[in-house]
Amino acid sequence: MPDVPIDTAMARILVTNDDGIHAPGLEVLERVAGRLSGDVWVVAPESEQSAASHALTLRRPLRIRHLDARRFAVDGTPTDCVVVALNRIMADKRPTLVLSGINHGGNLGEDVIYSGTVAAALEAALLGVPAVAFSQRRSRDGPMHWATAERFAPEILDRLTAFDWPPDVLFNVNFPALPPEEVRGLRACHQGRREAGVRIIDGVDPGGRPYVWIGDYSDKHSEHPESDLTAVGDGFISVTPLQLDLTHRPSLASLHDLLAGDNPRPEERT
Ligand code: MN
Repeated sequence: MPDVPIDTAMARILVTNDDGIHAPGLEVLERVAGRLSGDVWVVAPESEQSAASHALTLRRPLRIRHLDARRFAVDGTPTDCVVVALNRIMADKRPTLVLSGINHGGNLGEDVIYSGTVAAALEAALLGVPAVAFSQRRSRDGPMHWATAERFAPEILDRLTAFDWPPDVLFNVNFPALPPEEVRGLRACHQGRREAGVRIIDGVDPGGRPYVWIGDYSDKHSEHPESDLTAVGDGFISVTPLQLDLTHRPSLASLHDLLAGDNPRPEERT
């Protein structure tokens, strides 16, 4: 169980992401972590792993590239990075906080199911380390507002690390596609849901063969004031607590009744 509240000045922070070791968002998060603590480590994927979800590499070896004193690249997924960091690179003294991001693009609603950024934080939580995933939403054609993430992430971390952090819970933070001065505030949110899933785009390759490409999806969603999609769309920073246990408790209760029906209890079976 994590030690709470976390003393950030004494924290050993692991920074990772899914956009890869060269991503600009990683640099932003390294600077944010560096303002909190002098003990910041980076273990990030060698190449982009967006939408890798919680994949673990099992059928080939992983190579660790030592780039700098506390900076490493792993040729695997975000989950691999966290596993390698905690069990090898930082095995002598495990991190007290894991930060993932800052992702290039939002991780809102069902994005969290696909997200490698969120998966790295999930993996940290599985291994008992408090973790926060950060994502900076893109605008369709405007610039990336990295300054927004950089401006607000330290304050959010100050607040979250003072929180009575339950075990198996991680936080998913999304910054709106706005410059810092236009951000309207912080909002505690639940995971939202879009109306339609991912779309497939048809095309033809230069050799004349047809292909399908899994494309972006519409952001159309039902408005709920506490949904992350609504909050970020309205110019707020969303902070969503996520849990590892995916069990739907209300269904479990009815399932008990449904399965109990005429079935003998296990101990009554012969
Ligand atoms: Mn990404």
